[in-house]
Amino acid sequence: MSKSKTLKFDTGGAYSPAPESTDHIQLKDRYGLFIDGNFTPSKAGKYFDTINPANEEKISEVPEANTKDVDSAVQAARQAYEKVWSKMKPSERGKYIFRIARLIQERAREFAVIESLDGGKPIRESRDVDIPLAAAHFFYYAGWADKLDFAFPGCRTKSLGVAGQIIPWNFPLLMAAWKIAPALAAGNTVVLKPAETTPLTALKLAEVIREADVPPGVVNIITGGGETGKMLVKHPDVNKVAFTGSTEVGKFIMKTLAGSGKRYTLELGGKAANIIFEDAAINQAVEGIVDAIFFNQGHVCCAGSRLYVQESVAKEVISKLKDRMNTLVIGDPLDKNTDIGAINSRMQLEKICEYVDIGKKEGGSVYQPSCTLPEKGFWYAPTLFADVSQSHRIVQEEIFGPVLAIQTFRTVDEVISKANNTPYGLSGGVWTDKGSKLFKVTKEIRAGVIWANTFNKFDPSSPFGGYKESGMGREGGIDGLHSYVELV
Ligand code: NAP
Ligand code: MG
Repeated sequence: MSKSKTLKFDTGGAYSPAPESTDHIQLKDRYGLFIDGNFTPSKAGKYFDTINPANEEKISEVPEANTKDVDSAVQAARQAYEKVWSKMKPSERGKYIFRIARLIQERAREFAVIESLDGGKPIRESRDVDIPLAAAHFFYYAGWADKLDFAFPGCRTKSLGVAGQIIPWNFPLLMAAWKIAPALAAGNTVVLKPAETTPLTALKLAEVIREADVPPGVVNIITGGGETGKMLVKHPDVNKVAFTGSTEVGKFIMKTLAGSGKRYTLELGGKAANIIFEDAAINQAVEGIVDAIFFNQGHVCCAGSRLYVQESVAKEVISKLKDRMNTLVIGDPLDKNTDIGAINSRMQLEKICEYVDIGKKEGGSVYQPSCTLPEKGFWYAPTLFADVSQSHRIVQEEIFGPVLAIQTFRTVDEVISKANNTPYGLSGGVWTDKGSKLFKVTKEIRAGVIWANTFNKFDPSSPFGGYKESGMGREGGIDGLHSYVELV
């Protein structure tokens, strides 16, 4: 492979560089589609490059699956379902899933580096969050495989068949784990399509699946763009579609599936409110704001992109937030000091720039710390918007970048109605010393998850998913298992 050179970045002189080594990773120059337990070339022989967004260098190339490839993958999954996986003793299925979990742990460093190379996220995030959580999901659902009869009291479970799964680029391996682990535990087989810009950890996962001796065809991984995703959704032999991505594509999928009898779950966009009351621990809350929107470049569906601060502490919070923004390290995703890595793609960078222009035109005032961004690659400085109101587009629409819009409030009821004034309902955060306020706010905000005095905490046993245009169905926990079974 063309290994990424160590990048030189300006870290403000505060830290010596601490780059993670890439010597231990193995990547091929070209990958195949993972179908029926083998890496095979695409039928049309078409390939596309996957690049490192931090320096725009090509890392590898992957096939673009066409209708025939999608059909082969679905057929392989069907055969494996009928002949092997649905007939296997549940405890045996569990053993394979445990094996996948252990192999991810063993190869965690390799997975973390590839995730950061291919997607641009800081190594600290991929090393400490994405990869451990991906392994944890496999461990968690492996444990359910032989306990399905006890998961839903009074009911037995029946697997659905072949699951077609489509995932985005912001948590590539973790999203693959969220999809594959419960599907396999419940006795289904899988065809998964990773996002175009981040296919590599899914293909590495295919290697792990082979190493774990999972029977051929139980998991198939096909790369390609939106068209490949469309083919998978439409394929008549797919019984369940699981999609994570934008609300726009989610709506399209819902229309496509209407009347087909296929089951589906959709995990879509978000525009979370992060609410700071005057009685909150302010320094802790400021750290929470930074974590909620700036780490991971704001490429998080549940990012706290709308900040509501109680008027009496607004000056203090904004001043401390600006100070903290000035200390954030933007740069090489493989450097352990990095807080903000590269924007995932040129397209996403253009979208962020467009929204910031819209925000300015609508009268918002912008604050960005002074920092030197590298010339090559895709970068965006953390950005704060004040002087905005509920009707501004940057307050209503998902930007998916490190851009925060601040408003103030006076009363609890006012902030609840402002927080709920959005088409989305995926997540939220509330910071206060008073338990009664926590209970009121968390009860009245229409969002799937609301963190109290913290943000972005995940656990495989707790369900995740949206209200309103943020989607339908839940992933994680027993609810996540429910999405892959019929109760009989
Ligand atoms: P996206 O454009 O909707 O793409 C998501 C996936 O769908 C990609 O694999 C994409 O392929 C594929 N796709 C595109 N068009 C399709 C079609 N017509 N039919 C079937 N598949 C299609 O979203 P994104 O920009 O990659 O991801 C960001 C979005 O995901 C944000 O809105 C974010 O909030 C959301 N998200 C939600 C959650 C959640 O749990 N709720 C988690 C993470 C992200 P290509 O990559 O080739 O385009
Ligand atoms: Mg890439």
